[in-house]
Amino acid sequence: MSTNMTDNDGSHDDSPTPTSNGSAARGETPGADCGSSEHESTANATWSRLLSGNRRFAQGQPEHPWQDAATRESLIDSQHPDAVVLSCGDSRVPPEIIFDQGLGDMFVVRTAGEVLDSAVVSSLEFAVDVLHTSLMVVLGHEHCGAIKSTIDALGPLDDDRLDDLDRIVETSTSPIIASVGESLLESRRAGLDDTDDFERVHIARTIEHLASQSESIGSALGEGRLRLVGARYRVSDGVVEVLSF
Ligand SMILES: [Zn+2]
Repeated sequence: MSTNMTDNDGSHDDSPTPTSNGSAARGETPGADCGSSEHESTANATWSRLLSGNRRFAQGQPEHPWQDAATRESLIDSQHPDAVVLSCGDSRVPPEIIFDQGLGDMFVVRTAGEVLDSAVVSSLEFAVDVLHTSLMVVLGHEHCGAIKSTIDALGPLDDDRLDDLDRIVETSTSPIIASVGESLLESRRAGLDDTDDFERVHIARTIEHLASQSESIGSALGEGRLRLVGARYRVSDGVVEVLSF
């Protein structure tokens, strides 16, 4: 895993905005017989749209699209979100706000530290299999309390303690310590010691787990029906870093 995973989003300005291209913005759901290239195109356009929204938010110019009564009424009978987002539950990281999206745009699942369990994975699979979302975003963030609390619980992450910490993490009854702890130990063994990198590695590991442990998500990725991306929101300046692995 590379430690240089940040691929900043500053150049993502070619996407339709929610107000300038309603059709793309509302994410017309691809039919089951869509080719993979069409799914890929939809996913790419959706990701560009989200990053454009984040740029508006970070610059203090959000449009708050699709939050009016007419939109609400148009969604009474159905939803067709084109993105599913797994994010931390941190109160500073609400996906709809930081991506400047509206009603019906994103199916969002949130847990502390974006930690996975069977209910979370099932919810993500529902978005892919039933709602046919073509883009999945795993969104971690700067100053994540789940990362910090796990560091506090484990104590110093010194090299000579890593084997002992393996046992503590493996036997922990806390899903957060068990999941984030593995990410911390993997980071340390890769020579990383910066909390920012711990957060990035945890996002990468979460993506790996989703792709390898969910048959449904793995199949969607393999068949080109789904694009899975990692991102890290910076609380300090409002920008979403795009991570490349
Ligand atoms: Zn967090």
